[in-house]
Amino acid sequence: MVEMCLPDCKKRVALKRWFYSEDFLEKYCYAGQDLGAVWQKEGTLFKVWAPTAKKVGLKIYPFGSEEEMQREGVEETEFFFMMQEECGTWSVWVDGDREGQYYTYLVTVDGETYETNDPYARACGVNGVRSMVVDLRRTNPKDWESDKRPEGIEQHPVIYELHIKDFSNDLRSGVREEWRGKYLAFTEENTSLDKKGAFPSCLAYLKYLGVTYVHLLPMFDFGSVDERDCRKQQFNWGYDPVNYNVPEGSYATDVFDGHVRILELKQMVMALHRAGIGVIMDVVFNHTYRLDGAFQRTVPDYYYRIYSDGSYANGSACGNDTASEREMFRRFMEDSVCYWALEYHIDGFRFDLMGLHDTETMNRIRKRLNQLPGGEGILMYGEPWAAGDTAMEQEAIPAVAKNIRKLDSKIAIFSDLIRDSLKGSNFIAEHKGYVNGGKQEIIKAKEKVKNSVCGLCRAEYNGEVRPLAPSQIINYVSAHDDWTLWDKLIVSTKKQKNYQNCDRDILQMNKMAAGIVFTCLGIPFFQAGEEFARTKNGCENSYNSSSELNQLDWGRAEEYQELVEYYRFLIAVRRELPVLERTEREAADQITFLNMRGALIGFVIEDKKAFGRWKKALVYYNPDSDKHQISLPEGRWKILTDGESRWSLEGVELVKNQLVLLARTVTILGCEEELGI
Ligand code: CA
Repeated sequence: MVEMCLPDCKKRVALKRWFYSEDFLEKYCYAGQDLGAVWQKEGTLFKVWAPTAKKVGLKIYPFGSEEEMQREGVEETEFFFMMQEECGTWSVWVDGDREGQYYTYLVTVDGETYETNDPYARACGVNGVRSMVVDLRRTNPKDWESDKRPEGIEQHPVIYELHIKDFSNDLRSGVREEWRGKYLAFTEENTSLDKKGAFPSCLAYLKYLGVTYVHLLPMFDFGSVDERDCRKQQFNWGYDPVNYNVPEGSYATDVFDGHVRILELKQMVMALHRAGIGVIMDVVFNHTYRLDGAFQRTVPDYYYRIYSDGSYANGSACGNDTASEREMFRRFMEDSVCYWALEYHIDGFRFDLMGLHDTETMNRIRKRLNQLPGGEGILMYGEPWAAGDTAMEQEAIPAVAKNIRKLDSKIAIFSDLIRDSLKGSNFIAEHKGYVNGGKQEIIKAKEKVKNSVCGLCRAEYNGEVRPLAPSQIINYVSAHDDWTLWDKLIVSTKKQKNYQNCDRDILQMNKMAAGIVFTCLGIPFFQAGEEFARTKNGCENSYNSSSELNQLDWGRAEEYQELVEYYRFLIAVRRELPVLERTEREAADQITFLNMRGALIGFVIEDKKAFGRWKKALVYYNPDSDKHQISLPEGRWKILTDGESRWSLEGVELVKNQLVLLARTVTILGCEEELGI
């Protein structure tokens, strides 16, 4: 395609002023739900919003790319002029059954005409260059109508962050070759390491582990992987959206037929639901793959933030920040999220760089989701920061951490406070925290860890971030960005960096970090493989590194089964201690901290309303490399875990009065009686 010439800076500034004017809002904001290509057997209605265009045309192709046309020896295309309609829209009705045909728009603005895919496309050809007309009923797997979110998972959220290709790309994953790295890998049942039947892998493993949600890195159509040859060595996380409302093609078994990626993504969702696991989608509305894309080609400079000198804002570090505060992009975001929830049965959304969006947009998305059937149970959370300054307008309030109280109580943020206080800064290798630090670092982190225990909801530990309730907090210690937890623990503490060896001390730090995440109020989240000491050999940003470096190493999962079992216990124990899963503000008051010397933290959590077996729980954190003997509060306490080698939901030992806390451990005890402490 011909590269687009951008309007000059002066023109851009004038445009921006007009786009924000009352006049523009009144005349050109379109609220209809029929943008895109709406298929019927008798004909298809094409409609696009392009208020600054002087002319818009529609081109229909039999194939999704020029290469396929040449290969098939086909040249015929059809062309239709579109008619200007209300509120800046253009439309044309095209007779005949157009299902499976490909199309683009030719938009003329200021005498320049550019061809573009449809920003509202629901299907597309290879690499998303041409959009496709689709009868979505044709893309439904068998029994799709009966597919639904697993019962009650929203009451027990444990989120596992996963990249689709990473999941099954390992030769040892036990998944059949043609499905490795694809959506369909999730549909293969009873997989095991090397197909030997001894150690579960992939979906069977997720079921065994007990997580209730997978959070999938981008699965909308992104631009950084060339779909034409998926056997080529290529890898990318996919934070570069091309078609927001179409699945990514490189995870499908056929990239040329636009139906296949839709069908297979739905099959993946259905398989996960049947395994009792919800699906969270990573959405990246804050920037696009290129400035020169469908938005810019249909309405130049409407969708992007511009500084007063006409330069493009770059708070996303990708050269183009979208403008959520502009009405038609805000609606685009709302419509897109609701579309995925309804059409693909998605159970949650994670917003990349949510700090670049405004609080009103986020709250409006929450409201729209709430109105869907079962919509109140859909999770919403995001990164409450940006990569840099942006040019937000209209007195919009950015959805950054300090504005958390302006967000709905059911919009959560990642807590970088717990992340950094447990293991040290994500950006400085030698920086340490509560689980890997020396005496000084541990003491420095202590109050922050106590704040995190209460979901940042208790006044006495107040920091800058004061959520409405623990429901707004995602607790985690590692995600796809930066070092894996294992690598960070090694780079921060070891002179000799050996990522492959099983180091007992590092293993204990890892256990401790997870033990804390799982005993804090809020929603626990972890990066796939954190539970088996995932390593990227010290690589701190693997977004386009090799698949081999990124993929889950299923052999390592077996090798670190001890750690896997510990995480499995932590996931299960939260259900036994319902107070930890409570999400309302008052839950923070059910926590009583004990007077503990030095680095130690100890607290009792009590839930009068709890109807589980344990009326009270007692939790100790010992980050020291030494054991500590402590006196227990009154009661008949059973050890659920000593944080090192013993764990059981039934309790492994009855203790009274005295207890030894092992080095670098989280000890959890339960009491079946309601006696006072
Ligand atoms: Ca793509």
